[in-house]
Amino acid sequence: MLEIEQLSKQFGGFRAVNNCSFSVQKGTITGLVGPNGAGKTTMFNLIAGAFQPTAGKIRFLGEDVTSLSSDQLFHKGLVRTFQIPHEFHRLSALENLMLVPPSQKGESLFQNWLSYGSVKKQEEEVRQKALETLEFLELSHVANERAGNLSGGQKKLLELGRTMMTDAKLVLLDEPAAGVNRTLLRRLEDKILILNKERGYTFILIEHDMEMIEKLCDPVICMAEGSVLIEGDFQTVRSDARVLEAYLGE
Ligand code: ADP
Repeated sequence: MLEIEQLSKQFGGFRAVNNCSFSVQKGTITGLVGPNGAGKTTMFNLIAGAFQPTAGKIRFLGEDVTSLSSDQLFHKGLVRTFQIPHEFHRLSALENLMLVPPSQKGESLFQNWLSYGSVKKQEEEVRQKALETLEFLELSHVANERAGNLSGGQKKLLELGRTMMTDAKLVLLDEPAAGVNRTLLRRLEDKILILNKERGYTFILIEHDMEMIEKLCDPVICMAEGSVLIEGDFQTVRSDARVLEAYLGE
């Protein structure tokens, strides 16, 4: 589904990502791990089109997407979880879902606004989808709560919900476990698994919580100092001497 070929990103004289190659198979949940400064976030920014690489290629579904913007990638179904924008904190959970732009061009609510007759229908469809998404995430009881008042875990679930409002095929999750209590962490893991197994989402996730990586991810890719150290199943990666050394040097 995604092929990273000899990808590099240089900031001034420093290579944050250095000649990395790996691929992500459709239907997997691929874990991206590594000590701080390994280049994981930079890799996500490259894949999601936020940064242009210094060298190398990115292919998504067989197409060279190296020079595409995050907006163009979004329309192709490559979606990075949206942090809830600051100004959306005062909007309700339901409104946060309803305001996600549709990923198919020509379906925007605004465009339909112009054709007055269909706007009500369109809005009702979006509302239904948002309500179903909240139900799936077990957040129906906070539908009308301001997003800013939700707990850390509820916000993460809502961020996942925002990707579900699109036609996402590949979803990049950046530290989903950060700031989430144990109970909601289990629910978040369960929802990611259901989306993967039953709804066909492919995920790449950056995570420091090794329990979550072990439960969800196969394969696991470990980066260090801008390079891919090893790729394999969780146990193989965790017990690799180079990986242990990289984490010890953190
Ligand atoms: P990780 O997510 O694995 O912690 P990052 O991708 O955030 O690693 O960072 C990798 C390295 O690149 C770090 O040394 C960081 O300081 C550097 N870096 C990241 N972004 C920039 C930037 N915009 N300008 C300069 N250096 C950067």
